[in-house]
Amino acid sequence: MRMRSVTPVFVEFIPDHIEEGLLYISEPYQTAIHKCCCGCGEEVVTPFSPADWRLTNGDKGVSITPSIGNWNYKCKSHYFIRNNQILWAGRMSSQQIEQVRKRDISDKQSYIAQLNTAKKETKSRNWFTSMIKSILSLFESIFRK
Ligand SMILES: [Zn+2]
Repeated sequence: MRMRSVTPVFVEFIPDHIEEGLLYISEPYQTAIHKCCCGCGEEVVTPFSPADWRLTNGDKGVSITPSIGNWNYKCKSHYFIRNNQILWAGRMSSQQIEQVRKRDISDKQSYIAQLNTAKKETKSRNWFTSMIKSILSLFESIFRK
């Protein structure tokens, strides 16, 4: 049975038992989980990050972008969640799926690369700050004498 809507439930921790028709959203953990809307019973996890999905919580309900494509499951269902409504998208051909996968992988890689650069920058900044501090304390100790 294809579902037509989901009910968002805001939780801190994702519960062990996932009920059909509910979209569990954990803001602290930036992720959501729901049972595949085709009714196959598979659990679909949608982490929120620039390389994964984005959640918008509006007056009319929640939306998740981009679409949810369960290529890895038997059903291969593909749908959008817009204002709590399920908009069913056509099945993608295996060629289209391959394209989306490739795009996802490169999105993820560039996101990880960005994170790593940010980390490196922080590290070198920290190194610079601690160097300056040690030079200053060296001067201080010289002048005190
Ligand atoms: Zn399914």
